[in-house]
Amino acid sequence: MESRQAIRKDWDTYFMDIAYMVSTRSLCSRRHVGAVLVQGKKLLGTAYNGAPMGVPDCSEAGCMIAEQFEVEIVDGQEMMVKKERCIRTIHAEQNLLLFTDRADREGSSVYVTDQPCWTCANMLANSGVREIVYHRAYRKDSDKVTRLMEQKGVVFRALAAYDPPEQAIVAEG
Ligand SMILES: [Zn+2]
Ligand SMILES: [Zn+2]
Repeated sequence: MESRQAIRKDWDTYFMDIAYMVSTRSLCSRRHVGAVLVQGKKLLGTAYNGAPMGVPDCSEAGCMIAEQFEVEIVDGQEMMVKKERCIRTIHAEQNLLLFTDRADREGSSVYVTDQPCWTCANMLANSGVREIVYHRAYRKDSDKVTRLMEQKGVVFRALAAYDPPEQAIVAEG
């Protein structure tokens, strides 16, 4: 049996665990995303995906579903696949930018539970953030987002050997 002794977490695990705990605040049943801003090992902001303050969220008003056709690789072939996305919420990364100061972001790192979508990546690329660390892959935009980060010189990395805290995993509907 594994020892119950506390194992000191490394910084990546520490901040990603916080991002996952923050994601549990999300009221969108389709996706829970958390993001945190870190400047020199200091936590300067937390955010999750949600409707604007004071406006009914997905739990009250239901998700706002938009159908989109997206390119997906099926058996090695590019296919147009119809996907449903909830567009009610402001993405966690965007909320993080709305609620932090530019000066705090210069040279900072963002830990986010999910690989950013194209729009969030584009905004992060212009936000002063120098490093983005994510856990779950988001294949749809992965190639163009990776290329953008290369062009901007933003460190963009996935946490491979990482297990989120059990209590932060919410079944996605
Ligand atoms: Zn929703
Ligand atoms: Zn996004």
